[in-house]
Amino acid sequence: MSKSKQAILRFYNTASRSIEEFTLPKDVPAVRMYCCGPTVYHYAHIGNLRSYLFEDFLRRTLEYFDYEVNHVVNITDVGHLTSDQDEGEDKMEKGAERTGKTVWEVAEYYTQAFFKDIDLLNIVAPTLWCKATDHIPEQIDLVQKLEAKGYTYNTSDGVYFDSLKFDRYADFARLDVENLQKGARIDMGEKKFVTDFALWKFSPADSQRAMEWPSPWGKGFPGWHIECSAMAMHHLGPTLDIHCGGTDHIRIHHTNEIAQSECATGQTFARFWMHGEFLRMGESSKMSKSSGDFLTLKVLLDQGYHPMEYRLLALTSHYRNYLNFSFEALDSAKDGLRNLHRRTDPLIGKATAISSDSALKWQHDFKSAMSDDLNTAKALGILNSMLRSDLDDGEKSALVLDFDKVLGLQLDKTMPEKAKQSSLATEEIEALIAQRDQAKAERNFIESDRIRDELANQGIKLQDTPQGTIWESE
Ligand code: AMP
Ligand code: ZN
Repeated sequence: MSKSKQAILRFYNTASRSIEEFTLPKDVPAVRMYCCGPTVYHYAHIGNLRSYLFEDFLRRTLEYFDYEVNHVVNITDVGHLTSDQDEGEDKMEKGAERTGKTVWEVAEYYTQAFFKDIDLLNIVAPTLWCKATDHIPEQIDLVQKLEAKGYTYNTSDGVYFDSLKFDRYADFARLDVENLQKGARIDMGEKKFVTDFALWKFSPADSQRAMEWPSPWGKGFPGWHIECSAMAMHHLGPTLDIHCGGTDHIRIHHTNEIAQSECATGQTFARFWMHGEFLRMGESSKMSKSSGDFLTLKVLLDQGYHPMEYRLLALTSHYRNYLNFSFEALDSAKDGLRNLHRRTDPLIGKATAISSDSALKWQHDFKSAMSDDLNTAKALGILNSMLRSDLDDGEKSALVLDFDKVLGLQLDKTMPEKAKQSSLATEEIEALIAQRDQAKAERNFIESDRIRDELANQGIKLQDTPQGTIWESE
């Protein structure tokens, strides 16, 4: 066993509401980690991306501590209704109405947009991405298992999980189910109890749904919760070591995942549950994908920010605390990244072994911060203090590379142009393109090339097409 593996990792486990030591059972070679992924009916917003960044800090920390990680993330491309409680419209169908595309095109388009964001943020891709629509048989199979064990009942619109049959249903989220039941009597439809939830929904008899599959119960589609249980258990087995998601999932989605998985297998579904707290705009307002009122990474990039600035902002707060987003906070992260690069750029290519007592002490402190339930803010402070210390450049350089395995700030590269320069607003870019078109029309190629170069320096790439000049930012 390597030295670093002996260091103790401690994480907050939502299931016990306490910090616990993380270890793997003896016969498990790699961490079985499942994270709830995006519902691909719209762009991911920067709140969603904060959750994936937290999961990336976790994944990288596990690897830094020499664990192998088998990391699975799902893509929800069917079954997530506008209310997490099986009511309302299908989010994918709403996405299709909004964009005039088919549901399949919507899923593909937003999946690719999501992958691009993940890549830009330097989030390590999971070992496996899995799509709900690729796992319909596994979901049907799981519902059948529950049915055979007597945990389900049918209504006119679907197969439901009978939550009163699972004694521990309320435990995970500390739910007061009696009060919930009192409050919900009127809008329960045919559900027997307020916390019952759909495992499989029937297609309406008089119309065809955009996405539907044959099943033992007729044509229909899976409930959102069953997707995650079926895919997680199919790829990682009945018990996971860590299951992650945002805090919004605790009350319904993860509570339901536990109920249906544990009733089907009789085993603990996840040993650790870790949840990322929300990113908020202002003091209280929630960023909501369904209302369309949200910020995307692309909006930040179009305003001249660099993805590493957003990554640094996420690192400055603890994943279990709210992060109040503001452009002032992002500007501070921009300054922070620039200051870091001023110190790390001159160290590039100078790394030696980490061997002196003081270098090993910095490394030890960094490890302690990350092992303490992912204290990223403290880890950043240690990086900054180490850079200001009198350690020699060779060891400093090596420690930057070592710490950046976890921080993922791309400190092995020089400061990105965007982090150096102020950005251009869209109107300014378009005005420059118009000036360039004018210069070209006047055959003033020196001027048109100058403008092209000026834009290139700002990370704006131009492409001349028969329809005119189109541009994209890096
Ligand atoms: P969704 O695509 O809505 O299913 O959400 C994807 C992930 O983002 C889930 O883990 C959610 O819990 C998480 N999430 C949703 N909204 C926020 C937010 N404002 N801040 C942080 N995480 C969020
Ligand atoms: Zn899930």
